[in-house]
Amino acid sequence: MRIGPANVEPYLAIFGRYLREQGLPVTQQRRAVARAVFSSPQHQSVEDLDRVLRENDVRLGKATIYRTLDLLVRSGLVEEHDFGEGFKRYEHRLSRDPVHHHLVCIESGEVIEFRSEELQRIVEETAARHGFRPTHHKLVIFGLSRASQESGADVPYRGITCPIEATGTGEAGGSGGASAAAEAPGSGDST
Ligand SMILES: [Zn+2]
Repeated sequence: MRIGPANVEPYLAIFGRYLREQGLPVTQQRRAVARAVFSSPQHQSVEDLDRVLRENDVRLGKATIYRTLDLLVRSGLVEEHDFGEGFKRYEHRLSRDPVHHHLVCIESGEVIEFRSEELQRIVEETAARHGFRPTHHKLVIFGLSRASQESGADVPYRGITCPIEATGTGEAGGSGGASAAAEAPGSGDST
């Protein structure tokens, strides 16, 4: 991917202003990382950004990329996501709907965004019912994208998930779920 043209300049200017407010220098490295993030609508990992930067003949250490991403997140211009993949992903929050949610394909890693007014309404109603003042919320739906399903991917076995099943038979009210784990240690009589 070629890093985009002039349309990211206003965002770079805002980031530059943030850095100056923090007493930090606006270096070429920081601008390069910010430009790579702002140039893509994707949810990019550090690996993705490193590759994009190399494709654009910018060679930076991973530590510099991490530190700059940290600053971008703290500036509020970039959002950090942990989709449980063992690494973080980053997306810029500019010129798009800040309230959106994600579908994450567990096979390909594809991230699809969606918006839902209905979900927004449920959040507001639920918060109101509990006298709760919401600040933000996240919904991530994991599964297989259409493309992954069509290429033959299947959902892997994820072990026993039903607590009633785990506690075995004859337990009335086994829906508590904790009894199996609580019973386990020391229950065997080893001499
Ligand atoms: Zn997103």
